[in-house]
Amino acid sequence: MTTFRNTKQRRAILSVFRKASRPLSAGEVYRKAREIYPQIALTTVYRNLDQLTEQRVLRRHRLREKEYSYTLNERKKRHYIVCLSCDRMASIDKCPIEEHTAELAEITGYQIVMHDVQLYGYCQGCRCSKDESEEKSGQKTLISC
Ligand SMILES: [Zn+2]
Ligand SMILES: [Zn+2]
Repeated sequence: MTTFRNTKQRRAILSVFRKASRPLSAGEVYRKAREIYPQIALTTVYRNLDQLTEQRVLRRHRLREKEYSYTLNERKKRHYIVCLSCDRMASIDKCPIEEHTAELAEITGYQIVMHDVQLYGYCQGCRCSKDESEEKSGQKTLISC
């Protein structure tokens, strides 16, 4: 029965997210889900990611044009910063907007009920490798970042 098979595949996908400590791209989800459910197809992964996002089980983060990564939609909303060079994402514990919502509500005249903020930059690793090629000093300690 297809629904049963779909359920198993969906469970495999969700367990991948439960174990993940960072947002995952569709390709990463596919690779990790295959370790649990080897027969899973990439199209199934895409379909499930779409459905789970629609059902608000997952949150979709836009990396750039037509590139997304996904996280479980936790009760406590998190913000992420994306590296423009390697797409690595890090979560931000502090909400960068919370303390400004009252002010923004006043300026706009809107009652603000939610927000979605995505930050972009260059991660430590990419900044390090850039520094390294600039300095050529071979400071090995920097590579660990
Ligand atoms: Zn990076
Ligand atoms: Zn926030």
